[in-house]
Formats: sequence, C-alpha cells, structure tokens
Amino acid sequence: LAELRATDPEIAEVVLGELDRLRTGLQLIASENLTSPAVLAALGSTLTNKYAEGYPGRRYYGGCAQVDRAEEIGVARAKELFGAEHANLQPHSGASANLAAYAALLQPGDTVLAMDLPHGGHLTHGSRVNFSGRWFRTVGYTVRADTELIDYDEVRDLARTHRPKMIICGATAYPRLIDFARFREIADEVEAYLMVDAAHFIGLVAGRAVPSPVPYADVVCATTHKVLRGPRGGMILCRGALAERIDKAVFPFTQGGPLMHAVAAKAVALREAAQPEYQAYAAQVVRNAQALAAGLAAEGMRPVSGGTDTHLALIDLRETGVTGRAAEERCDAATITLNKNAIPYDPQKPMVASGIRVGTPSVTTQGMREGQMRQIAGLIADAVRTDPAAAGGADRLARIAGAVAELAREFPAYPRG
Ligand code: PLP
Repeated sequence: LAELRATDPEIAEVVLGELDRLRTGLQLIASENLTSPAVLAALGSTLTNKYAEGYPGRRYYGGCAQVDRAEEIGVARAKELFGAEHANLQPHSGASANLAAYAALLQPGDTVLAMDLPHGGHLTHGSRVNFSGRWFRTVGYTVRADTELIDYDEVRDLARTHRPKMIICGATAYPRLIDFARFREIADEVEAYLMVDAAHFIGLVAGRAVPSPVPYADVVCATTHKVLRGPRGGMILCRGALAERIDKAVFPFTQGGPLMHAVAAKAVALREAAQPEYQAYAAQVVRNAQALAAGLAAEGMRPVSGGTDTHLALIDLRETGVTGRAAEERCDAATITLNKNAIPYDPQKPMVASGIRVGTPSVTTQGMREGQMRQIAGLIADAVRTDPAAAGGADRLARIAGAVAELAREFPAYPRG
C-alpha cells in the first residue's frame, strides 16, 4: 500500500476507505464475502501480466509454464472438491460462465426453461435486457403462492408444453434447497440439458453444508466470490463428454485471454475450501442465516418460505409498512449493508420492492455466531423502523451505527497487523 499511496494517493484513499468500511460496518449482502490475505496476494501478483489464450499445454503465447501450473492445480482441485469430471476456471464472472454454457449447449432461438426473475432467477436466466432473453426463447417457472417453494409440478408441465432444450435451476434469491433429482427427472423426460446455476451456493456445496448438484447436472455454472470466498470470477463444472464444448465456448467463443491472477486466486480459494475448517465455516453460515431469519421473524419481519436452508434469507417487510428501498437506505445509514429485493408476487416495482435479502457469508468469516445474529436482527429491525426524516431519526440511526461499529470491532474484518 505504501507504493500505491506514493503513486496514486487518490486511489490509495479509496482502497483504505473501503477497508475502513469493511472494518466498521456489517456486510450482509448474500453474494459477498471477505477473501483471505492469501487469495488477495495471488490476485495482486505479477500473474496479472500474462497473456495465456488457450488452455494449459495448448496456449497461443509463450512463457506460460508458470500460469499453466496454476491453472492445472486449480482445475485438479475443483474436480476433486466437487467430484466433477471436468472443470473450467477461466470464466471472468458468473454471467460469463452462464453465457458459455448457453453457447456450448444451444443455438440462438432455442427454448430455455428457467426461474422467473421476480421469483429469484438471475438476469442471465432469460431477462429481456440480457443476452439470454434477447437471443433465446425463455419460459419462466415460479414459486407457489402458498408455500413460496418451487412448484415442481408447474416445472414439469411447462417442460412438457414447451419442450425446452435446456432447463436451468439455481437462483439469486431462493433460500431453500433445490431438488436436483426432480429437475433431472423432468429434464430427462423432455430430453433437455440440465444446467444448475450454483453461483450462490457452490461454496455451501464445497463445505458439504448442502447437497451437490454435480451428480445430476450436465453443466454446473458458479461464481467463485460468494460463499466460496475466492476472487471475483466464474467456474464451470461438467461431465467429461461436454468438456470440449464447454472449453471452446469459454475460449475462443465468448472470451479472449484468461485472467491468470484470478485463476491462481481461484486455485487458492479451492485449496482453502477443501480444509476441514471450511466445512465448519459453511455449516455455521447456514446456522447463522437461520438464526438471523428467526431473529427478524421475532421482530415482525417475515422470512419468505418461513426460513432458510442456505446462506441467505429473503424478508417480506410488508407488515412494517416500510419498502425494501427505504429499508436498504435506512440500514445503509446505520452502516448495515444489505439489498432490497423483490419477494414472490411482489406488488411493488423492482426498484422499490417489498423485501430485503440478507446473507451471512461475510459476518461468519468474521467469526460471528447465532448470538450475534440475534443482535444483528435487532439492529436491522431498529434501523428499518427508523425514519430519518422524523424527529430524532437521524440521531437514532447514528446510535445504531455506533452499536454496529462496536460489534464489528469485536469481530474484525481483516484484523490489523
Ligand atoms: N447466476 C446467479 C444465480 C447469480 O446470483 C449471479 C450473481 O449474483 C450470477 C449468475 C452472475 O455472477 P456475476 O455477477 O459474477 O456475473
């Protein structure tokens, strides 16, 4: 950092400001985590200089011996950790991994069956503002209004009616386990590929805290920066029979040179995720999410589907009369970072939303447990109910921020020294 300070004090200030934000606030964004210093070291290494289009042993550039080793080690670790026949660590992001999966398995105009966005699906699952909705015909399935769980009968009926070439399961805001065997059965019945977008929960799979989609899916797409706690990036796991198609879809079809510093950092994260401590971490992430959901429920904030089996909870705020957007802003003022989120059958527009999404990967990395989750639920409830425009509101939010800072000091992100 001394060099950065000397060369570019403005950006050094940003980096240190962000570190301070992490050290003094609470990070409850379900898709974020706090990477280890080892992952950061690989990311900030000279591997960022290297051009390595192609794959280990078949590159379009010389001088790739070292980066070949990094990628081979990383791929071997991914295959071992997830019991996958093939792994590709080159996708620049989760969206890039999904694009490559579409490119490998489909032709433009083909039909895809995926979860509707307002019910928890991702932009890359058929949104009209994304390649997936522009270049493919997408049909959306929903959750049941009564249980707020995936309606597998609807999935089967839609599959029979629309005969999709690919079915996607895996979401951004679905707190429950997904029945991969059921999806496999439906995909087999209509002869569709099954793509599991495990972007959110692949880290829980790595830590054996939830069942693995690998035995059921043709292709598993994932990110490496969420619960998995690696660098920002993507990863694809697939059956051996699809390996060549997936590799070609990543490079040269949708990407150029891989980010070898990121590939190396993914390898580091995969090594960390294979340790017994990581399994304990993943289990605690889920217990913490359950405790946070229960704590919020006790504050009159209803967890969608009644709770969670994963790292995140989706909270319906309608009882409080506060929108998701206002809740996000109020929590932000109290240095609690979370996001507004549509709930199933949400009457509000997406930019307003009736809910918030909370996740526990970061606070669990900081060492917090169920007791702290109950405390955080109280702080969130207090912030959500505090109107900054009302008399004393701003002071109250500042007092909550003080309590947050105290908790963050006790369980520091990136402890000093
Ligand atoms: N798929 C799902 C289910 C996601 O939740 C996300 C990101 O949140 C992505 C894909 C895209 O990942 P990225 O932001 O790395 O492109």
